[in-house]
Amino acid sequence: MKINSAEFIISNSDAAKCPKDRLPEYAFIGRSNVGKSSLINMLTNHKKLAKTSARPGKTQLINHFLINKNWFLVDLPGYGYARVSKSTKAIFQKFITDYFETREQLVCAFILIDSRLEPQKIDVEFINYLGESGIPFCLIFTKADKLGKTQVQKNVAAYKKHLLANDWEEMPQYFITSSEEGTGKEGVLNYIENVNND
Ligand code: GDP
Repeated sequence: MKINSAEFIISNSDAAKCPKDRLPEYAFIGRSNVGKSSLINMLTNHKKLAKTSARPGKTQLINHFLINKNWFLVDLPGYGYARVSKSTKAIFQKFITDYFETREQLVCAFILIDSRLEPQKIDVEFINYLGESGIPFCLIFTKADKLGKTQVQKNVAAYKKHLLANDWEEMPQYFITSSEEGTGKEGVLNYIENVNND
């Protein structure tokens, strides 16, 4: 899919105030600093659509972007960064779980995972939460340029092993990206396009 237009629509911390349009939407979420803003900017060909920040955990809003005037890309707050106080961090803040539990337009959530790390408890908890809630999701392994290809594959295989050992029957659909090198973009965009056309 080619991105012809990407416009910021609204930011808020209340799932009930998200746009009323019935356009399909795709949400991006992950631990703070996982590379979410960089990925969104890469996907949409913008340098600054999503704000990259040197201060992890700063964005605490649900941001809607209208893409090609026919679907929403939703930038959700990063979770689980230690420097944010417990009260603001509150593992999976209520407005985020409200979003997932009420947003009927949500077609798929993309959970971003740092490809360099072994499975992190909070990511696996989030994966389990979406699984138990019956919300379709994919994984995106980010920052792949920081490792060799073989090592990325090894880490993905280790992730799969971990999920299978934790009651998952199969590895969810996944993508490997590098915003630094601009790789993995077509895989994610084509996936969205195919699901939208189904
Ligand atoms: P966010 O907090 O998840 O939105 O993460 P950002 O997109 O702001 O990125 C956090 C840090 O990781 C920044 O210093 C980025 O430059 C860096 N980063 C993000 N994506 C990549 C990537 O694909 N490769 C490399 N090497 N660094 C990245």
